[in-house]
Amino acid sequence: MTAAFLGPYPRLDAIAEEDLLPAFDEALARHRAEVDAITADPAPPTFDNTVVALERSGELLRRVGAVFSTFTGSCSTPGVRAVEKEVAPRLAAHADAILLDAALFARLEAVDPDGLDVEDRRLLERRLRDAVRAGARLGPAEQDRLRALNAELSALSTEFGARLLAGANAAAVHVTDVARLDGLSPDAIAAAARAATERGHDGGYLLTLVLPTGQPALASLTDRTLREELHTASVTRGATGDEHDTRDLVLRIARLRAERAALLGHPHHASWVVEVGTAGTVDAIRDMLGRLVPAAVANARAEAEELSALAGYPIEAWDRAFWAERLRRERYAVDAAALRPYLELERVLHDGVFHAAGRLYGLRFAERHDLPVHHPDVRVFDVLDGDEPLGVFVADLFARESKRGGAWMHSFVTQSRLLGTRPVVLNTCNLVRGEPTLLTLDEVRTLFHEFGHALHGLLSDVRHPTFAGTGVPRDFVEFPSQVNEMWLEDEEILARYARHHATGEPVPAELVARLRESRRFGEGFATTEYLAATLLDLAWHTLGPADEVTDVLAFEAAALAAAGVDLPSAPPRYRSTYFNHVWGGGYSAAYYSYIWAEVLDADTVEWFTEHGGLRRENGDAFRAGLLSRGGSVDPMEAYRSFRGRDPEIGPLLARRGLG
Ligand SMILES: [Zn+2]
Repeated sequence: MTAAFLGPYPRLDAIAEEDLLPAFDEALARHRAEVDAITADPAPPTFDNTVVALERSGELLRRVGAVFSTFTGSCSTPGVRAVEKEVAPRLAAHADAILLDAALFARLEAVDPDGLDVEDRRLLERRLRDAVRAGARLGPAEQDRLRALNAELSALSTEFGARLLAGANAAAVHVTDVARLDGLSPDAIAAAARAATERGHDGGYLLTLVLPTGQPALASLTDRTLREELHTASVTRGATGDEHDTRDLVLRIARLRAERAALLGHPHHASWVVEVGTAGTVDAIRDMLGRLVPAAVANARAEAEELSALAGYPIEAWDRAFWAERLRRERYAVDAAALRPYLELERVLHDGVFHAAGRLYGLRFAERHDLPVHHPDVRVFDVLDGDEPLGVFVADLFARESKRGGAWMHSFVTQSRLLGTRPVVLNTCNLVRGEPTLLTLDEVRTLFHEFGHALHGLLSDVRHPTFAGTGVPRDFVEFPSQVNEMWLEDEEILARYARHHATGEPVPAELVARLRESRRFGEGFATTEYLAATLLDLAWHTLGPADEVTDVLAFEAAALAAAGVDLPSAPPRYRSTYFNHVWGGGYSAAYYSYIWAEVLDADTVEWFTEHGGLRRENGDAFRAGLLSRGGSVDPMEAYRSFRGRDPEIGPLLARRGLG
């Protein structure tokens, strides 16, 4: 049965929901047996019989995991969720058991690194590093404490997510008088009425909350008191003093993370996290953020003043989006809806996304209909490098109920010369299907962005699967995808894909120009709210185990003031009590990654521009120096040899109007 998961492409037509659990059973047992065979080998440890053997092991588990994550993300059913609940703790324990396998660690330490090339040496170092970071050098009592900390932290994170979700649902704002919804579109009002009924209200309208501080309805609601009500509901999430209050969880998670870091020899959690990023040290991150804060805050202040002048009163946090939208319409005469007829999905995909990859890297895409897919909407393309097969690209673009929100890239198969595998890469999005499907500019951006991740996977040319494509540090992984966004505004590419779906007319140039210009306005605010959240994340995770914090809100206020980002009209994108990225998700001490990668992105866009933009030579250089290397080389060394110097922050400052 497990054969269906292996091969160059998974046989999805032969995999049913009830096969998943048995497949995991077999994959886990097989991986364990493969590792046991390595440690039982009587021959002295060598790179081949230990590190390479370890790299070959677990292939079935990787494949089953890849198919499974496709089900959980894109075809989630009660059955799939039940398997997830059962398997998640077993996978974590399995990974821990291998990382802390004393016999395996002893063999790894005995491998002679002499004579290894760069990629092999990096793999040996990675295996040792991961084991040490998991506690391999600790004594048995400390390892027990570490396991207990990991288990409690994992439970607390799950609890945080659940409590936040319940709290956000409870905080949704119920409105009985439709007149108060003035400014919302008829669609939005209908959705609010539906939400009220669905959540058990006897009529009326329910304004539900999205995760960040800023709520979309604030841009259009004309009723100022309702704006204030909605904003207050958003920023007090998790600090309500009832069963949804998350403050005890925040304090406990921060404390346990500090204790774990100390156990592993670090002054604080951020030090432990940042050690494996390209930033290297917390000081380097603070230094970069410190260069952005003054200009961002000054711009946010100036924007607020401009909006206050337009409003005729000093704007509060709940007024900003409303007046910013008004200003955009008045000053730039921008109507985002006017652009949509020019952004038809098929054209954007073939004449935009694929065409840019053709011009830059010589790739061609041929749709095929013979491979099994996980949903009828899913499309499959052979990717050819000139005339040579390179890999397979799978596009699952439309929203459906069983799919989680957002957009992401993952792989069925990762490229590896060791295993002889070609990449099979997926992009999953949540576009709303139409006849035809017309996109917003943001959705076009998402397609180019996710395809940038896909290119990272498809153009990978490494030996070891660990290093394939997106197998790079977290603060580097968004770099190629952000760079790929540059082509959606490239003149040649834009002229090809942005054509009226009915008439074929090209998009009016002044419409694009106005839109581009209008995006600049509000960058001061956007940068400030992001920086505030990032600095908050760092403040919580640079606490040592002896640091006593008892009041979450007082700590937050002090941290924001100390960092110079305590602007009343620009609260953090996430406040401590609903910062799910860092308490519930995997971004603790790593929220800085987005802007860290954007420094490289903006600096690279400048390189392309300096070198004539959309040219095959430029694509080839970027591919050879960065995209193909994955994690097989030091990412920053690769960057320096591609760029000819260290990354510079100037292009990012200019892009965000902070120069
Ligand atoms: Zn991304």
